[in-house]
Amino acid sequence: MAEDWNLPAGDLMKGKRGIVMGVANQNSIAWGISRQLAAQGAEIAFTYQGETLERRVRPLVESIGMETMIPADVTDDASMDAAFEQVKDKWGKIDFLVHSIAFAGKDELQGSMVENTTREGFRRAMDISVFSFIDASRRAAALMPDGGSIMCMTYLGAERTVPSYNVMGVAKAALEAATRYAARDLGPQGIRVNAISAGAMRTLSLAGIKGGKSLMGTGRDWSLLKEDTSMEGVAGCALYLLSPLGRSIAGEVIHVDAGYHAVGVPDMSED
Ligand code: NAD
Repeated sequence: MAEDWNLPAGDLMKGKRGIVMGVANQNSIAWGISRQLAAQGAEIAFTYQGETLERRVRPLVESIGMETMIPADVTDDASMDAAFEQVKDKWGKIDFLVHSIAFAGKDELQGSMVENTTREGFRRAMDISVFSFIDASRRAAALMPDGGSIMCMTYLGAERTVPSYNVMGVAKAALEAATRYAARDLGPQGIRVNAISAGAMRTLSLAGIKGGKSLMGTGRDWSLLKEDTSMEGVAGCALYLLSPLGRSIAGEVIHVDAGYHAVGVPDMSED
């Protein structure tokens, strides 16, 4: 069951339109962010990976009074062309883009990174999790003549080693670098590009990582706040980055992980 919270409602995103990429079900981080953006008045076009997901995503989209759903497989240029063309036809321009997409094969997300990373697995992880962000940013920026805000989702595995995270950690490091370079390129057009580094959360993606559940337990027990990363916190940070509240912030990676990233040595029992 997805975490629920009292969504702060208001007008921070009133009159703003944008694209959210990466809702797969009610537990998706992209969905938590979408609910918060909608509660602050945003209008959202959702892209989804394929037909099987449409059935799951449509009721969610309709539950917040939205209707625009566009198929987009980020590995397929024609599909991305058609998706952004559809948004252009509908709105002409947009104000924000949320990229919340990643993938690596199960075989890669276990054991030894050195042993288990194949050329094809590496290529696929980087294509879906990193190139897609660069590609979507370029396409979104073309629809942002008045400036805008773009964000993606990353994880501590980009900065430190995490068991089983392996090639995805390598991809997230590249994604964080891509965030800074995109921020550099698009900043002069008034487009802010940032990332949220979330602590481990119970989603489909986490289930693909061997031992993923224990990442959540450790993330909670070792964190400064001694609690799980909340969807409320991640969605609130996304609202901050995508709304005028985030003005002057660009090229940033914000940790929303109950302070886990700041721990060098966890609490130890007294000897
Ligand atoms: P999720 O499985 O709900 O979302 C992943 C999304 O990626 C899905 O909607 C899936 O359809 C999409 N996707 C995969 N391949 C695609 C393709 N070829 N074309 C289009 N879409 C594709 O899981 P999530 O945890 O919400 O993941 C969202 C983002 O958050 C990812 O970047 C993930 O790495 C990141 N993240 C997750 C956690 C966590 O613990 N769950 C922590 C930090 C960062």
